[in-house]
Amino acid sequence: MSDIREILSKDNFTHSEIVKLLSTEKDDRSLLFEAAAATKTKYIGNIVFFRGLIEFSNICSKNCYYCGIRKDNRKASRYNLSDEEIFEAARFAFESNYGSVVLQGGEVEGEAFTLRMEGLLRGIKQLSDGRLGVTLSLGEQKPDVYKRWFDAGAHRYLLRIESSDRDLYYKIHPQNNTHRFERRLQALSDLRTAGYQVGTGVMIGLPFQTLDHLASDLLFMKEMDIDMCGMGPYIEHADTPLWNFHDGLLPIEERFNLSLKMIAILRLMMKNINIASATALQAIDPIGREKALKIGANIIMPNITPGKYRDDYKLYENKPCTDEEASDCKNCLEARIHLSGNKIGYDEWGDSLHFKSRKEEA
Ligand code: SAM
Ligand code: SF4
Repeated sequence: MSDIREILSKDNFTHSEIVKLLSTEKDDRSLLFEAAAATKTKYIGNIVFFRGLIEFSNICSKNCYYCGIRKDNRKASRYNLSDEEIFEAARFAFESNYGSVVLQGGEVEGEAFTLRMEGLLRGIKQLSDGRLGVTLSLGEQKPDVYKRWFDAGAHRYLLRIESSDRDLYYKIHPQNNTHRFERRLQALSDLRTAGYQVGTGVMIGLPFQTLDHLASDLLFMKEMDIDMCGMGPYIEHADTPLWNFHDGLLPIEERFNLSLKMIAILRLMMKNINIASATALQAIDPIGREKALKIGANIIMPNITPGKYRDDYKLYENKPCTDEEASDCKNCLEARIHLSGNKIGYDEWGDSLHFKSRKEEA
């Protein structure tokens, strides 16, 4: 049996085995992808769930070195959707039978913001008769804030660890009180305590990042027993501090390939979690997200932010579909998902099966 076949026959991988899987090329890489696709079919089926993504504000209090909407980027033109615009986008998702929405934005803390989110969550539940599922992605918050939003109707939360290696974390974030690695870890545990399905993830192909880091990231996700994952390629942005290192980055196609391998390996390691196919994959390859759906991912987040704001939520260069309205995206997506051999779970929340089984065990 080849080395790779032998590794793929196991249920758990060691750090060095993961590095080997991340290094696969050609036939060995195909073996990895085939194994991940079979695992997806067996444990969760060839079904993809939608989360209508509403990027409702690019106002942020943080200064992550990679992100185009970081606080100190004076070139970013700031926006904040009105409540009515957010409800309209949620209504679009509901009427399009998407089943769920994701509310994502810059990180803002404080009572006014907490209250606003509570009102938005209750409003979204009301306009959909409680039928739209809601995922939040609003960064680090106090434990009681997470609880209040959960009580108001949110039930999934995405908070990427970005890198599980403390040293690398501080190479891509300022080392100060607003960007503490320990707080990020604590936030992931607070979210679990509050009752959410918890999702995390990393960027792939960051400056200074090695295959060892990425293998540790996958083991971190397993160790944290996460319910969902969203991870994708790092894409440089000229108006951010990490741009200084762009000459040393892996070529963009390699970051893309590495991202697919990360998704496939995670599917083998955590068979029944939800794995999102990141928008950043589409920035590199027009059918990048569908490729990820073929080899392990099962969630897609069509952008339903009103078209006029999309250009301003520029986390990185070449962000896809910034010139489209939500309905344009819906039509092209449907056709491509069917081509990827998956069917769409319309009107379903598509909750993490992993979350369900850990609740049953508790
Ligand atoms: N502010 C919240 C947070 O940081 O969790 C949610 C919004 S933030 C824009 C969502 C994700 O975008 C981050 O977790 C980060 O991984 C990703 N992101 C930011 N800049 C990126 C870049 N240049 N390339 C790829 N992903 C990026
Ligand atoms: Fe703000 Fe999130 Fe961007 Fe960091 S990644 S600067 S917290 S929007």
